[in-house]
Amino acid sequence: MNITVVGSTNMDLVYRVPHIVKAGETLHSTQHELFFGGKGANQAVTAGQLGAEVNFIGNVGVDDFGEKVKRNLQEKRVNTTAIRTVGLTGQAIIQVADSGENSIVLFPGTNFLVSTEQIEASKEIIESSQVLLLQLEIPIPTVELAANIAQSTGVHIILNPAPAQKLSDSLLSKVSILTPNETELEVLTGLKTETDEDLLQACSLLLKKGVGAVVVTLGEKGAFYMNEQEHGRVQAKKVEVKDTTGAGDAFNGALAVAICQGKSLKDSIVYASNVASYVVTQMGAQPIFPVSVPQINTDC
Ligand code: ATP
Repeated sequence: MNITVVGSTNMDLVYRVPHIVKAGETLHSTQHELFFGGKGANQAVTAGQLGAEVNFIGNVGVDDFGEKVKRNLQEKRVNTTAIRTVGLTGQAIIQVADSGENSIVLFPGTNFLVSTEQIEASKEIIESSQVLLLQLEIPIPTVELAANIAQSTGVHIILNPAPAQKLSDSLLSKVSILTPNETELEVLTGLKTETDEDLLQACSLLLKKGVGAVVVTLGEKGAFYMNEQEHGRVQAKKVEVKDTTGAGDAFNGALAVAICQGKSLKDSIVYASNVASYVVTQMGAQPIFPVSVPQINTDC
């Protein structure tokens, strides 16, 4: 199982609050913790923790956080040889409400310095992967070049289109599996995403643009999926929610692992849902799994 993640790294500064702060309001936080984050790093760590061989292409800052972020990736079984040290480490300031809801302010820092030149320099890593896993917290030309290289060598591309933004038809046509949440799907297509019929319409539009399959994550409502052959829904497990930060990242990291293992689209989504629903029972965006993965009931 060989996965390359091209993406972001961050330090997450998490503040637990009774409710998400409103405009003009000052609120005492009842608890503060530091976690490693960044969509790219979270997804890479999930895949590494689930047993995949993972290469990470991205940046860390020249500051103390940067050193810690890189060491954490190494400790979580992620290969960091293609990581560069430049600029300031990205930060996410996260409020987690007692209800489990979250809100995030993102300082991209070094993540906006992940360059096309860096991708060219690491071309062979992408070409020798089974799956390339991408998100949108780094410059879009960098994402596009990575996708071009992967497509030209037949590498499976999973794109998590977060944070929400419109994407070119050229990039979409190269994607094997696109994994938006409802908001991201709405921004990508300009269509409503309230009912199953809405989801069907929006996913159809993306399939027409050449996306291989669309998997829409719906939080506690699970995931809706569609490709040329089938569509349906996989329910999320009922769990005691502590922190939903990084649920989508865990889902994507696990989905990449399952696809690498040769599982079908539906079985891969079931696996990813089980991993993600476990992650929301823990604080922080990077999962720590008990002793071995099968014990968390990730069976399909
Ligand atoms: P984030 O941006 O916070 O990482 P997201 O919006 O990308 O999240 P979600 O749709 O919230 O992703 O969650 C991804 C998956 O995680 C869901 O499809 C589901 O399998 C699981 N999940 C999320 N929230 C819950 C929950 N409350 N209970 C059980 N499973 C959940």
